[in-house]
Amino acid sequence: MKIVMMTDLEGVSGVVSFIDQGYATGKYHERAKKLLTAEVNAAIEGMLDEDVDDVLVIDGHGPGGIYFEDLHPAAKLCHGRPVSDRIQRGEILKTYNAAIMIGQHAMAGTELGNLNHTQSSETVEYYKLNGQLIGEIAQWALHCGALELPMIFLSGDEAACQEVQLLIPGITTAAVKQGLSRTYAISCSPAEAHRRIREGVKIAIQKQRQKPITPFKLPGPYVLEKRFFFTHIADAVQTNPMYQRIDERTVRLKSDDILDIIYG
Ligand SMILES: [Zn+2]
Repeated sequence: MKIVMMTDLEGVSGVVSFIDQGYATGKYHERAKKLLTAEVNAAIEGMLDEDVDDVLVIDGHGPGGIYFEDLHPAAKLCHGRPVSDRIQRGEILKTYNAAIMIGQHAMAGTELGNLNHTQSSETVEYYKLNGQLIGEIAQWALHCGALELPMIFLSGDEAACQEVQLLIPGITTAAVKQGLSRTYAISCSPAEAHRRIREGVKIAIQKQRQKPITPFKLPGPYVLEKRFFFTHIADAVQTNPMYQRIDERTVRLKSDDILDIIYG
């Protein structure tokens, strides 16, 4: 079995601050990267227990969230910015059997979602796909679904786990943090977070072998609406002719192919 792992920083146990931990300039940013990498490694240990023989870790945090020196020897890392040519990456992902997410947070506007945001914590008010609010979880699940990859596991805060369970009933999750607000939370200890992730990944793989989750898809055609906090962000985005301006702070993308727009 071959598994792709999307990673993010804001759903990791112990991470509660955009400024100090999430941003590359944060005084605890490198330490936060170590926390994420340890959760990634716990997931890999669970995979190895279930005889997974290929693990591709994708660094999904904007400025980079993986502390490379600590990465588990069994993993490969896909990283760098900007993310160039997702079509070429898709050809690689298609050779994998399942996808998971580690360190994930809930979509922008989720009241108890710790560090909730959608792509940019500083500029995005919301994303809607065909009228429904979506966040990074649905983006990744739809991207993988179009590549015929089922999403079988997620770790993050409780709100992120609830968000994915609404999209993909039956998915295995591991909550490692309870958000009490956007910037306040109860984190479980690193050791306990690792235990939950390692055990959760093992259960997810066992369940996938017995009663497989199918790739996540929604019916097209697709309209992705993005609303920003500021007009100048919409101005900048609109320089791409794929975008249609709806109002001062809102743009839309349309396509019959979800892969064209989900990270557009
Ligand atoms: Zn994120």
